[in-house]
Amino acid sequence: MKTINDFNFKDKKALIRVDFNVPLNDAQEVTDTTRIEAAKPTIIKILEDGGSCILMSHLGRPKAKEAEFSLKHVVNSASEILGVQVKFADDCIGDSVKEAVDGLQPGEILLLENLRYHPEEKAGDASFAKELAAFGDIYVNDAFGTAHRAHASTAVIAQFFRDNKCFGNLLASEIVNVNKVLSDGEKPVTAIIGGAKVSSKITIIENILDKIDHLIIGGGMAFTFVKAKGGQIGNSLVEDDKQQLALEILDKAQQKNVEVHLPVDCIIADAFSKDANTDTAAINNIPDGWMGLDGATQTRELFASVIVKSRTILFNGPIGVFEMDKFAQGTVDVCTAIAEATADGAFSLVGGGDSVAAVKQFDFGNKVSYVSTGGGAMLEMLEGKTLPGIKAILD
Ligand code: AMP
Repeated sequence: MKTINDFNFKDKKALIRVDFNVPLNDAQEVTDTTRIEAAKPTIIKILEDGGSCILMSHLGRPKAKEAEFSLKHVVNSASEILGVQVKFADDCIGDSVKEAVDGLQPGEILLLENLRYHPEEKAGDASFAKELAAFGDIYVNDAFGTAHRAHASTAVIAQFFRDNKCFGNLLASEIVNVNKVLSDGEKPVTAIIGGAKVSSKITIIENILDKIDHLIIGGGMAFTFVKAKGGQIGNSLVEDDKQQLALEILDKAQQKNVEVHLPVDCIIADAFSKDANTDTAAINNIPDGWMGLDGATQTRELFASVIVKSRTILFNGPIGVFEMDKFAQGTVDVCTAIAEATADGAFSLVGGGDSVAAVKQFDFGNKVSYVSTGGGAMLEMLEGKTLPGIKAILD
């Protein structure tokens, strides 16, 4: 796997695909700089080598060249974080951009305008990719958030660089860390899969069954399993058409010697609301009119006891409706157990959408081994797919 550390960028122009698709407020100010900070190590290494950086990114989903999606709104934040005044090109291809690129000196950074102002970006257009490619000596992909897209700047462009292409630090560490779970995980390996729906997690579960020893199933998706096994789940979330699939998963897990841990009790509510009345019930005996929205004491203890004995942990999907305080404790307790195991030397990866949000919300970000930066991209990696942005560098 070639990374930026395999190159010396002295007097080279690095064309870097970053993910600066950051949230903006109504005043067009960046409200969360995580993604810019995540790209910093790659950019700094190139500048310190004596190279210059041409940054390409998309921002939002523009239909035309709408001003609200201009990457110029990101320039101030990026300059502050990178410690260098970032220059800005008001397009991403064309003569004026070429002029700005030609004038770029070692130590300088040029941010190109939103790639998605050109429909060719998402279409994966090869001639558009070739125009972009002409600006750089070396292509660096550091945009994990879009690595699952076969777009012009994320994948198609790589063919124009032969050997002069590599992963940035961020993308490289995402690959290394997911492989620590999927290929080289020290046993016992535990996957905690929660969240709303079985249907969105099924491919992940099927892909990881060969790699894990314990499967903890939490969140709304657990009720499809409980109902399929004959339990009374009241008004809890369920996907009736996935009950058969749930039973097949349980069967497969047994064949592969994977121990499955379903919730045994839950916090029930008479409405999906933070003001709902609540009670506790056995997971398979929930009264009509009530729904399970979090794991209760026995479930939390069961899950924690499995997690603290694990050496490799994947956390994907919350245990309950953690966005509401009343239903957050199951997820908090899982985070606490993961933190404890990690402090004890286990490797823990938090990946995919809402579990990342939960870990951040409850301040566990520094107590786990790795928090993935890419929602959809991480899900696809866990599903065992080869991401186009990664394949393009390896080819
Ligand atoms: P996902 O994106 O599939 O990981 O789902 C995450 C969402 O699942 C979060 O917004 C949670 O609030 C929600 N969730 C977790 N547990 C439950 C539950 N028991 N019932 C309904 N929604 C849930």
